[in-house]
Amino acid sequence: MPRQTPVRRRTRQLRVGDVEVGGDAPVSVQTMTTTNTADVDATLQQIAEVTAAGCDIVRVAVPSQNDADALPTIAAKSPIPVIADIHFQPRYIFQAIDAGCAAVRVNPGNIKKFDDKVAEIAAAATAAGVPVRIGVNAGSIDPRLLAKHGAATPEALVESALWECSLFEQYGFRDIKIAVKHHDPLLVVAANRLLAERCDYPLHLGVTEAGPAFQGAIKSAVAFGILLLEGIGDTIRVSLSAPPVEQVKAGSHILACLGLRPRKLEIVSCPGCGRLQVDIHHLAARVEAAFEGFPHPLRVAVMGCVVNGPGEAREADIGVSSGNGKGQIFVRGKAVATVPESQIVDRLVEEALRLAEDAPTP
Ligand code: SF4
Repeated sequence: MPRQTPVRRRTRQLRVGDVEVGGDAPVSVQTMTTTNTADVDATLQQIAEVTAAGCDIVRVAVPSQNDADALPTIAAKSPIPVIADIHFQPRYIFQAIDAGCAAVRVNPGNIKKFDDKVAEIAAAATAAGVPVRIGVNAGSIDPRLLAKHGAATPEALVESALWECSLFEQYGFRDIKIAVKHHDPLLVVAANRLLAERCDYPLHLGVTEAGPAFQGAIKSAVAFGILLLEGIGDTIRVSLSAPPVEQVKAGSHILACLGLRPRKLEIVSCPGCGRLQVDIHHLAARVEAAFEGFPHPLRVAVMGCVVNGPGEAREADIGVSSGNGKGQIFVRGKAVATVPESQIVDRLVEEALRLAEDAPTP
């Protein structure tokens, strides 16, 4: 059955370095480094890792002068655009812009007290062609609006974000993308729907403090899945209490499931049941590890018995139907061999490499 790609909401488009965000640009995947930003080597190493995993844009925290001082080298050497994440310190914002950062994350409400630096930031960002990301979550709603709404409701998040935008808009600055985040995925859905009705800025989707990898990936998949299928969302970050590479992989998987990013290698494996004739969890994990980083978009089926095994294995590019210490190997619908269980993984890789020889590397 042909997949239906979601019809995207029309937004303004902006450029974060060489990555377009909004409009008809592909939905991009972001993450944030966890290194001490001032440790340039460690930060660049982590950026290289997330880039290899498919990250489009990376954000680095800038809580100190040493971090701000590291930005020129990081921005120059990073293979993907760098966003400087800054709270409270206007001078770091100017440094980030001068350093060649592709965007800054700043909430003007935080810096309004500094003699109205907002106008200067708007002017500097305009001159450098640097967009600003405004982000509001449950903990950073403007106190006035929190009091007005009584809680971190979707309305409170949206009103707070749009108020932050208005502080820039009064100076004619509209090169903005917005994130409204919450730990509750359904609240994230409601807030972004509301925001999508009220403005045409590109939206950065995120479920904040989503939790450990398993829980956080599910929460993000639920929220992003609903919103992206409605065409809402222009860039995403899966926030997990897990390494940034895992966040990028989760984000890329979510987009691939929605038909918004080409699929990479896909492993179809059965969950196992009382008919199992192999340790399917272990076998699937070994197959996943063996195919880590495989660049061709193959579907590999790993099945645990002969009931559904041959059918699924035939449907995939490469598959195995396991049982009684053996594995029947299928390639593009044809049974090509039966191998001992200990040779299943190697044989699958061998067949995949053979198929890959016939297809150019994507
Ligand atoms: Fe159970 Fe076999 Fe289906 Fe796996 S393929 S879930 S073992 S019936």
